[in-house]
Amino acid sequence: MASLKDQLSGLVYSTEKGALCPQCSESVDACICAELDDQSRLEGLDGIVRIRRETSGRKGKGVTTITGIPVPEAELKALSKKLKKTCGTGGALKDGVIEIQGDHREKLKAVLEKDGFTVKLAGG
Ligand SMILES: [Zn+2]
Repeated sequence: MASLKDQLSGLVYSTEKGALCPQCSESVDACICAELDDQSRLEGLDGIVRIRRETSGRKGKGVTTITGIPVPEAELKALSKKLKKTCGTGGALKDGVIEIQGDHREKLKAVLEKDGFTVKLAGG
């Protein structure tokens, strides 16, 4: 019997393979769905990093979102950590989009350009 936590995470169990990926039914250790998702995300990018401020439905200064960063998930995580630290604020990483709390467009643009990215400020 799978534990409640595993049931909630949508994993299926097999006696031979252990926890199975619900997407490809492979053992989670052998599953490459995450890599494939990451690959298709990267293939859809045009190499331009877009920074946008979003205030709709949010309080105060809203958030700054950074989309289109052409690096793998693991590097995105490290980058999002670094950017939060640089701005001294919180943030999140979701579906390849980095969200930084507050309006830090100019600062983020400078940091990303220093890292060698092509950056465009988009929207208002
Ligand atoms: Zn899978």
